[in-house]
Amino acid sequence: MGRKEKFVYNIHTLTYEKVVVPVKTRIWQAFGLFSVVIVTSLAMLAVFYTLFPSPREADLMREIEQMESKYKQMSGQVEVMSKVLNNIHERDANVHRMVFGMDPVDKDIWEAGTGGHTAHPEVDAFKFGGAAVGEALTRIDFLSRQLVMQSKSLDTIQSLARSKTDMLASIPSVKPVREDKLQKTIGTLSGFGYRIHPVYKIKKFHAGLDFPARVGTAIQAPGDGVVTETGWHHGYGNCVKISHGFGYVTLYGHMSRINVRVGQKVTKGQKIGEVGDTGLSTAPHLHYEVHYRGNPINPINFCMDNLTPREYQEMVEAAKVANQSLD
Ligand SMILES: [Zn+2]
Repeated sequence: MGRKEKFVYNIHTLTYEKVVVPVKTRIWQAFGLFSVVIVTSLAMLAVFYTLFPSPREADLMREIEQMESKYKQMSGQVEVMSKVLNNIHERDANVHRMVFGMDPVDKDIWEAGTGGHTAHPEVDAFKFGGAAVGEALTRIDFLSRQLVMQSKSLDTIQSLARSKTDMLASIPSVKPVREDKLQKTIGTLSGFGYRIHPVYKIKKFHAGLDFPARVGTAIQAPGDGVVTETGWHHGYGNCVKISHGFGYVTLYGHMSRINVRVGQKVTKGQKIGEVGDTGLSTAPHLHYEVHYRGNPINPINFCMDNLTPREYQEMVEAAKVANQSLD
């Protein structure tokens, strides 16, 4: 093309005729050529920059790589924190179980969210480092959720510890008859378990502990509670029952006198009546039972007041001897 003139042979006139190209067509042709050049150049540039990134791009790529490794490092640190928290959670569970007799936070609830699904789909779209960022975010989410649960669990322990003060005052912990009023040393009391029955002379389960004392000796509440029963009971004679809450109930038999009424609140050490010889009894004494969640348990474990650990051990040993009960 260009400025060179073009001729076409006309078979009808048998002459060469000059080709006239309109200006418009020339402009279009020029534009077309220009476009091809531009597109080709851009494509080549793109290939070039892919193979040889610009200094700025190279810097950015380096930074992205560094950030990716920092995110991986963060994930590692969060994992260590999770392990520490899990250890705290384990110890917390032990406190719940051993000290308060309660079930700790459910394991499934505690571990909910560990299943790998990503909670941050927006980072999946990242061309570089999305996986590392996503993992770090997911781990942090999980850790924060567990921290909230752990904190709530500690709140529970705190409130339990507060009510533990009430619990300590309520659970029977002193002897129902003062030791200096007993006619036998505490070590020779008739204990809990199978004993020879004083009336039937056969081995019978003795559900309590007998405290021999003079008729009229004061009987004291071994812990705070509410009187639930008073009156005559075949076998036990004049009898009182006190509910201490937390699963504990105490029973007093063979009383000569009852000083409390049903519904009355009593505090530890308060006089509730007097020792007697009423009901199936062979000598003046207090028959004392401690029930936990409906079952009689050995009252010896609730008589540890004013005893040295050695005296307490002696008492426990002595109470194991299968002597005759006073019932
Ligand atoms: Zn008894």
